[in-house]
Amino acid sequence: AKANGKNNFQFFTAEMDEKALKRRALESELRLAIEKQQFIVHYQAIFDTEKNHIYASEALVRWQHPEKGLLSPFHFIELAEELGLIADIGEFVLNTACDCAASWHKSFDNAPSISVNISSMQFQRDGFLESIENALNKSGLPAEKLILEITESVFIENDQKTITQLTKLADSGIKIAIDDFGTGYSSLSYLKKFPVNKLKIDRSFISDIEHNHENQALTKAIIAMGQSLKLEVIAEGVETRDQMQWLKDSECALIQGYWFAKPSDHEDFKTLLFKHNLR
Ligand code: C2E
Ligand code: CA
Ligand code: CA
Ligand code: CA
Repeated sequence: AKANGKNNFQFFTAEMDEKALKRRALESELRLAIEKQQFIVHYQAIFDTEKNHIYASEALVRWQHPEKGLLSPFHFIELAEELGLIADIGEFVLNTACDCAASWHKSFDNAPSISVNISSMQFQRDGFLESIENALNKSGLPAEKLILEITESVFIENDQKTITQLTKLADSGIKIAIDDFGTGYSSLSYLKKFPVNKLKIDRSFISDIEHNHENQALTKAIIAMGQSLKLEVIAEGVETRDQMQWLKDSECALIQGYWFAKPSDHEDFKTLLFKHNLR
């Protein structure tokens, strides 16, 4: 039994070494990726089922890896946060997305807003407000057309700075959405304390919404709260017609998910706009 234990232990360390090595390799690849600008932005529609047009578009980063192909954020966002690289990637996404959205505004009079994910680290970083201002000025996108998606974790840290920043953003016309709403553990009091405009109901509530009575109750409660606090509510991860219909019947008209469209590159997204937003 002893020998066996020893073997297990050796196996365990070998595995750990391999994990550490892989991580270190990914780390240097990630640093190089920033230098070589290997990131691209995909766009996913947020559809308004009442007005029948694309209401907004979420910018989602992808890593065009030289060998591994197109990598989703799942493979690198966490590491980028740990290494402090997320703000650099985030800035690229912000600028690219604003440029792209500004170009839609030249072609469509009901062009969608652009929604950009902001990690708490990026939000807390010095110079964050300036980087937003820059992206708007360079692109010419109206501030009212920019939505920043933040998670509840932003409200846990640095209360005063968060209030000041969010107030400045709100004063300039920028909209704030709470991403993955319902999954954080923070109290809801921040909703009246901070200038927030939109709630995005997390996919985990929507994936079985046709059958799961608890998720139905929670989703209805979020929709009702949105109505009374005058917050727009968006359901994410809508994959089926039944889910879309359930949400529409429950007065949640704004939906995002594979049922309407998967994330796509800017050209395919523009084709989608021509189909739905040309009046
Ligand atoms: P998220 O903000 O919750 O974004 C929604 C994710 O759900 C996206 O995954 C999207 O492709 C996926 N999705 C959309 N509709 C459906 C659906 O109907 N079914 C299913 N199963 N999935 C759906 P993605 O693009 O892999 O992004 C994952 C996460 O990475 C995002 O989750 C967000 O937290 C983060 N992320 C993406 N881009 C950025 C970025 O530029 N900056 C930061 N800080 N985070 C980002
Ligand atoms: Ca998001
Ligand atoms: Ca989300
Ligand atoms: Ca989510």
